[in-house]
Amino acid sequence: MEHAQTSPKCADCWRAKSKCLCSEIKSLTTKTQVLILQHPQEARNPLTSARLASATLKGTTHKVGLNWRSLTAALGRPAESKDWAVLYLGTLKNSAQINKTPFQIVTQKGTPVDPTSIKGIVILDGNWKQSKTLWWRNPWLLKLKRIVLNPEVRSNWGKLRKQPRPECLSTIESLSFTLQNLNESPKVSEALETIFQKHVDSMSKD
Ligand SMILES: [Zn+2]
Repeated sequence: MEHAQTSPKCADCWRAKSKCLCSEIKSLTTKTQVLILQHPQEARNPLTSARLASATLKGTTHKVGLNWRSLTAALGRPAESKDWAVLYLGTLKNSAQINKTPFQIVTQKGTPVDPTSIKGIVILDGNWKQSKTLWWRNPWLLKLKRIVLNPEVRSNWGKLRKQPRPECLSTIESLSFTLQNLNESPKVSEALETIFQKHVDSMSKD
């Protein structure tokens, strides 16, 4: 799946310089803090979209690596686990009702919590296997609340990149959907979806 990256990369959007999308990125502020933890292999993938997300969302912390000691260590500033939620990869055991809800934040035990209590979100970026690796190598993630998505829309990746499961969206799409449900301005989701579409369009031309 991985294509050889021959041309030099843009230091800002991490795409090939010939395909730089920096001038198209609309940078916006969010009330919700965002932490993207990206698997090193995904960071090298030319199809990676996470950097476009972190460039769009001002103040995002974007780390490439496999493990960090704690939320504070990953973030580089003090933070409390109880105020943060991670985009959950697993399925919830208990409630079929929860699984039908397009957006829900729950405790470790699956009890729904008020989304307005969440100050920050963590997104694990990589393919299914890489994301799982990040999940298991960072046990502090277990202490965070969990964001469970069941979006009715399908990913815009189309044939370009197979998603592990139909409900799996790209990192940008998941972020957009989550921030929309956390009552961020519609401009934020719009900016994310526009840049993602440009990314997909330009990669499809290869
Ligand atoms: Zn660029």
